[in-house]
Amino acid sequence: MKKGIKIFAVIAALVLATACNNKSKETEQSVTSSDSTKTEEHHKKHWEYEGEAGPDHWSEIDQNDCGGKTQSPIDIVETEKDKTIKPIDFHYNQKTKIHDVVNNGHTIQFDFEPGDYIVINGDQYELKQFHFHESAEHTIKGVRYPLEIHMVHKNKDGKFAVVSIMAQEDKKSNETFEFLDKYLPKKANDTVKVNNDFNINKVLPQNRSFYTYTGSLTTPPCTESVQWFIFKTPIEVSIKMITDLKKIMPLNNFRNVQELNGRKIKESI
Ligand SMILES: [Zn+2]
Repeated sequence: MKKGIKIFAVIAALVLATACNNKSKETEQSVTSSDSTKTEEHHKKHWEYEGEAGPDHWSEIDQNDCGGKTQSPIDIVETEKDKTIKPIDFHYNQKTKIHDVVNNGHTIQFDFEPGDYIVINGDQYELKQFHFHESAEHTIKGVRYPLEIHMVHKNKDGKFAVVSIMAQEDKKSNETFEFLDKYLPKKANDTVKVNNDFNINKVLPQNRSFYTYTGSLTTPPCTESVQWFIFKTPIEVSIKMITDLKKIMPLNNFRNVQELNGRKIKESI
């Protein structure tokens, strides 16, 4: 009888271990594209920022656009000022309930309740998540900022609009990022519950003029037809937040700049 219980305990432990393992795999797969959203991810393959699964090999992964002609990020050099470009209309709430923060092994991603959105040319795009790249992915005349924040939005037709915020180091304390810094998940596949209100508007720079072009998600599946809006003015993020992110994200979690292939970069006034 005792032996029976022992065997049962061993089997139970094995089942539990397998379940936990599956759960962590599921989490990784479900958020495998940091620029994409959780719900629609499936059939995704393993990728990294270096080595055999690194960016040079992303296009070898099945069913993706990583080898396409309109990829991101890019180096922003020659731009055209365009008076007809309207400002982005931000409808971010003063208080958004942040559900949790995920370390998906590629980036740190904040997930929150729906309700924040932007309007671009009369079209509404919901804010789905925001995450970090260190150093920045886009470069401006060859200059790479220490950090780039991607605010990922999607409209009802499934089209992406990503608002990109460059960040430089702030030697002073910074309330906004001290708040976010408190919840950073230390290891890959860790999730930290937040359940706290946050004013996402505080992440945006005061001057909201931007560069805009058509590109892609910067991680597999590198989906194209993404409209990019890159603020010209960087924000300041506390050195502690930047240092903490560096410790917990893959080193240099940015993709190298891609060919323009004739694309034009426009600049709002
Ligand atoms: Zn990104």
